[in-house]
Amino acid sequence: MIRIREEGLPKVNDCIIIPVKKQNIQSMNEALTKLFSYITSDGIPETPDIDFERDLQFFISQKYLSKKINSLASRFPELLVDYDPSLNDNLSPYNIAAFSNNPVNWRCNICHSIWSAIVSSRTLGGNGCAVCSGHRVVSGKNDLEYKRPDVAKLWDYEKNKSLTPRDITCGNPDKHWWKCPFCGESWEAVTYSLTRPGSSLRCEKCSKKYAGANRRKNYVESGHSIEDTHPWVAKQWHPTKNGELKPRDISIGYDKPIYWICCDCGETFESIPYVVKKKKSMTCKSCSTKRAHSRPNSKL
Ligand SMILES: [Zn+2]
Ligand SMILES: [Zn+2]
Ligand SMILES: [Zn+2]
Repeated sequence: MIRIREEGLPKVNDCIIIPVKKQNIQSMNEALTKLFSYITSDGIPETPDIDFERDLQFFISQKYLSKKINSLASRFPELLVDYDPSLNDNLSPYNIAAFSNNPVNWRCNICHSIWSAIVSSRTLGGNGCAVCSGHRVVSGKNDLEYKRPDVAKLWDYEKNKSLTPRDITCGNPDKHWWKCPFCGESWEAVTYSLTRPGSSLRCEKCSKKYAGANRRKNYVESGHSIEDTHPWVAKQWHPTKNGELKPRDISIGYDKPIYWICCDCGETFESIPYVVKKKKSMTCKSCSTKRAHSRPNSKL
């Protein structure tokens, strides 16, 4: 390396020094001629015509051009959305070296938080806003309560002690305690697993139940409802006493009692569908008994 240095500056090792006198054009011209005498052996045929005074503007413009080309603004225009000169003593991003190790202030274009980071940590390291990436929690910006109030609502304040949903982000990888909105029990789960899209917000037991209910629903809907498999049973279904439940909603294996209308007397009676189907008679108890008694006679 060859350096042109003013006389009287501290010594620098490991390079060739060409000394110049301070603010002396003649000395500068001599130094440049000397510089070219060093490098002409490397393919430059002869010493070019140099007049420092005449070419000063050109040298300065070249210096600024090179600075501009390698600036933050030229090399990483995509980062300028986060750069505001007013936060940096009005320093233009064209005057910041793209890989500088100096810190500058940034303002996130998404969450508007301001932070300080070394230029190269963004241009080389690829780091961004800590709030947006979830590394830093800012209440009212990226905390769980703000971002996912539906999940924060399940927070078990008692078991999580002093920690609140305002202290963690949606991407938090730790286990915390939650209160199941279905059974009221407390259960432990990784926060991130609850904030993922499609995650079921209930305890494991209720999740299993829900999965079972879903499976049953799919089974019934795929041609296994009472209406599909046992239409004669469905005909005796009580129209009002079973609430919202209809013969197309359950299978014949349904294990809770249902209201039916007796086909003999028209009275209402209660029975599990499977029992009704097994008996093959859609009659109430007393009519069943009557039928049983009259059976020998009816055979005659
Ligand atoms: Zn941000
Ligand atoms: Zn539950
Ligand atoms: Zn009856």
